[in-house]
Order: sequence, then C-alpha cells, then structure tokens
Amino acid sequence: MSRSVLVTGGNRGIGLAIAQAFADAGDNVAITYRSGEPPAGFLAVRCDITDAEQVEQAYKEIEEKQGPVEVLVANAGVTKDQLLMRMSEEDFTSVLDTNLTGTFRVVKRANRAMLRARKGRVVLISSVVGLLGSAGQANYAASKAGLVGFARSLARELGSRNITFNVVAPGFVDTDMTKVLTDEQRAGIVGQVPLGRYAQPAEIAAAVRFLASDDAAYITGAVIPVDGGLGMGH
Ligand code: NDP
Repeated sequence: MSRSVLVTGGNRGIGLAIAQAFADAGDNVAITYRSGEPPAGFLAVRCDITDAEQVEQAYKEIEEKQGPVEVLVANAGVTKDQLLMRMSEEDFTSVLDTNLTGTFRVVKRANRAMLRARKGRVVLISSVVGLLGSAGQANYAASKAGLVGFARSLARELGSRNITFNVVAPGFVDTDMTKVLTDEQRAGIVGQVPLGRYAQPAEIAAAVRFLASDDAAYITGAVIPVDGGLGMGH
C-alpha cells in the first residue's frame, strides 16, 4: 500500500535520491524546496525549515493533497565550515537552526498525525562527522551529533505509540555539498575510507527506505552508518 512520505530537502542531492527511492516503490512523496524549479514527479512544497510558519503551511498542503505524513525523512541540512577562532556566532547558530532546530520543527509537526494514527516512521539524516568530529566543522558536527540524542529521546518517548525514530549517518557522498572540496581534499578523504570511494546518493537512500519498511519494524533509536567504513567503532 502506498504511504504518504515527506522528504525535506528532497529537491536535490541525497534528499532527491531518497524521494526517488520511495516513489519507485510506489509511495506518494512530497518534497520541500526553497527556490528554483523543483524536480517533477513529486508533490513539491516550498518550505524553509528555519521558519515555523512555512513548516506549518507545508504540512497543511501535504495533508490536503497527499494525506497525513506517515514517513518523515528529515534530510535538509547545511554547512558553514570555519575554524573555531574564526567561527562567528551566526555561523554556529544558523547551522544549528537548520540542521537541529529545523529537524525539531518538522518532526514535531509530523508527530501530531502520527500520534493520532498510532504509527509512524521518522528517519533523520545525520553524518559520520557527528560522532567522529571534523576540524573546521564544529557547528555542523554538533548539529549532527544533536540529532542522535534527539532521535533516541523520541524513540523512548514515543515507542509505545508505534513510532520509530532512527538516524542514518552517511560518510562522504557525491553531491553539491561535497563538490566544493578540492581534488586534493577529496583524495585525502578517500584515502581514509576503507571502501576507497565516495557514496552515491542512492546508497544512502537504500538504508533510509529499509528503516521505513516493515522489515525494520523492531528497529528504533538506531544509528546506521552508511560511510564505507570511515566511522567504524563509533
Ligand atoms: P545538498 O547541499 O546537495 O542539499 C541540501 C538540501 O537541504 C537541499 O535540498 C536544500 O534545499 C536543503 N536545505 C538546506 N537548508 C534548508 C532550509 N533552511 N530549509 C529547507 N531546506 C533546506 O546536500 P546533500 O544532499 O549532500 O545533503 C543532504 C543531507 O545529508 C544533509 O543533512 C547533509 O548534512 C547530510 N550529509 C551529506 C553528506 C555528503 O557527503 N554530501 C555526508 C553526510 C551527511 P535548497 O535546494 O533549497 O537549498
């Protein structure tokens, strides 16, 4: 049976691959976008997750056109890399506001209908650096580590309502976010990855879809690395 799925930041990169994977499996998929022309084949709703009012409006539109969200993938995220000495308070708070508080906003709103339905699946996209740390990414790593505590708290709070909360922690993935790296930086990263390459977005999507499937009904509060072995041991 097709479900109502929402993927934030589903207009490009990893989010688009996740949206495509659910659509290919026959689900009805809504995606958020902030500007430009969203990709075809999805219910595209304009929404900046740093704005609670836009989140509310997006959910209203999705509920009207596609039904209450049964599967939420909180994927939208940003980086603003800088060494601590040069990191401004705005560099820090804006990344937290998107990656962590933005996730809080969309999860909280999704929860309303999930509680009523007494079922739901929530998957948060963190990062290997949330647990491993990354020089120059203290803001980003803190936001991604925060998602783990957030998901695990909700797994405890809402497990009895049959709502699961899991985290996928990708390693380096070929998207716009990593295109900014130089060839030298890329080679350095790949040298540390046991599988010796970047991930393709579809490889992250496969893990997300599994966590939202019936096969994963007894998995909650888990952090699933999809990182080619980069973060092993964390
Ligand atoms: P991209 O930079 O390619 O895409 C980011 C997505 O997030 C876009 O869809 C963007 O929308 C959306 N977004 C950013 N800010 C907001 C906002 N305020 N409101 C709504 N949407 C927003 O990144 P990736 O696809 O690479 O990353 C997706 C997720 O995976 C992120 O959470 C990232 O941290 C995580 N990740 C990525 C890794 C990688 O190597 N690429 C590794 C580990 C984790 P818009 O088009 O409007 O800008």
